Amino acid sequence: MQNEFSRRGFLGAAAAAGLGLGLSASRVAAQDRPRVEVCNPLLRTPLSLIIDDSCPVINKAYYWIQQRHDWRLKHEPNSPPSGWEVHYDRLGSMPNAIPAAFAAQWGDWCGAQGIRGKFSMVPFPAGVGRIDQGFPGFPPQELKDWLRVTKEIIWKNFDLTPEMLTHTHVVDLKTWKLTEQWEQGEWVDPPVDQLTEYIVAAMQLLKNVGIACEGVTSPGAFGKRKEMAHARAVLDAALQVNNNPRPFYFLNMEMEEMPTVPIRHADKAKGEAVASIIGCAGDWFGATGYDESNPDLFITADLQGGRLPAVLAKERPTILVGHWPCFYVNGQIGFKVLKEVKKRLDAYDPDKSKTIWMKNSEIGHYWMARELSDLSVTDGAGGPGRTIRIATKFPTDNFTLAIHGCTARRLQVGGTDLRQVQSQRDLGSGTFLATDKDTFVAFDLKAGDTTLSVSA
Ligand SMILES: [Zn+2]
Repeated sequence: MQNEFSRRGFLGAAAAAGLGLGLSASRVAAQDRPRVEVCNPLLRTPLSLIIDDSCPVINKAYYWIQQRHDWRLKHEPNSPPSGWEVHYDRLGSMPNAIPAAFAAQWGDWCGAQGIRGKFSMVPFPAGVGRIDQGFPGFPPQELKDWLRVTKEIIWKNFDLTPEMLTHTHVVDLKTWKLTEQWEQGEWVDPPVDQLTEYIVAAMQLLKNVGIACEGVTSPGAFGKRKEMAHARAVLDAALQVNNNPRPFYFLNMEMEEMPTVPIRHADKAKGEAVASIIGCAGDWFGATGYDESNPDLFITADLQGGRLPAVLAKERPTILVGHWPCFYVNGQIGFKVLKEVKKRLDAYDPDKSKTIWMKNSEIGHYWMARELSDLSVTDGAGGPGRTIRIATKFPTDNFTLAIHGCTARRLQVGGTDLRQVQSQRDLGSGTFLATDKDTFVAFDLKAGDTTLSVSA
């Protein structure tokens, strides 16, 4: 199988077997003590927006279609067009570049809306030019503007990742020439001995322009047939290039079942792990700008139907996936869908008590803390107080615990009193909420040992 262009639809056996739900990660102490459980951050369901195929300067869809067409005529002239090549006859009306000024407008809008997620930055897009060397045939100022917009506007709310080197042909790293293999074709089943070096090269090009990426995105199903080796290579490359012990990768979509956040290659002693971020919906923004584009598939106008309400109802990370070209081309068709979907998500959660927008890396770090922290509960000497100890090398913001069977009157973290709030809507980092049955507490979890003192 050469042409498995899409990441969608075949969550492999390795992924299925390794699923760690992380949602019922209760750390049960002795029977007569309150049960302590890690909840979703601030008792809200994470939302995140993944943007794939974004490149500095060029419109990746234009070059992908052109190069795939040329490749097919050369290698498989009797096979029909596949993937985005079905839009070959639209090339004449498709822009080959997307302006930095549009990226600024898009990034500003997302920032004002509170949207967070991941934004790809393909470092050698379609082999047209290296992000650290320039794009022959394009005004040098466009690349400069793209880098400024990416770093100053988009990076505030979105992780930046390579989507491997070109997102079209595999690069021969000895010559930096394009080969006849495809990153999302043959490298769905990648040569493991070259994988780390390849991901290192992708990360290094971004590093060369001042971007320490938080993880990687697979072009299509890149790495899917050797997912555990891919995950290992991502972690090793992240350590090597950016000294990042807790990166993430985006490879899988889960369109039917409920998504999870599998944590791979965890080493609790070293504080190292890699998170698999799984998209649950999309791309219904329109992909190239000429593909399916429909807000109702995300969430219907009555807020009941579509994929997002189903995932939100199960309180699972709700991660939308869109391809960058559609947000600009064909009358910004994908941007219009995003605006409508965001409006409906705001209506779904009008007081912002149910959902929380997070970057992919923030979701990864939260799930690592949830699964890889050691919690213990001890009773206070002679009183109603209790002590909860947490030992972790996996820090996260908004770490949220439920202490079941306990109504706290006072709660301290590391000797500092937390503020009591009266409703879940007001629960923020550094506060606690006590009901007649349970107590919920949220704080920023630091690496090391943390002590919570609970007075009932
Ligand atoms: Zn892609």
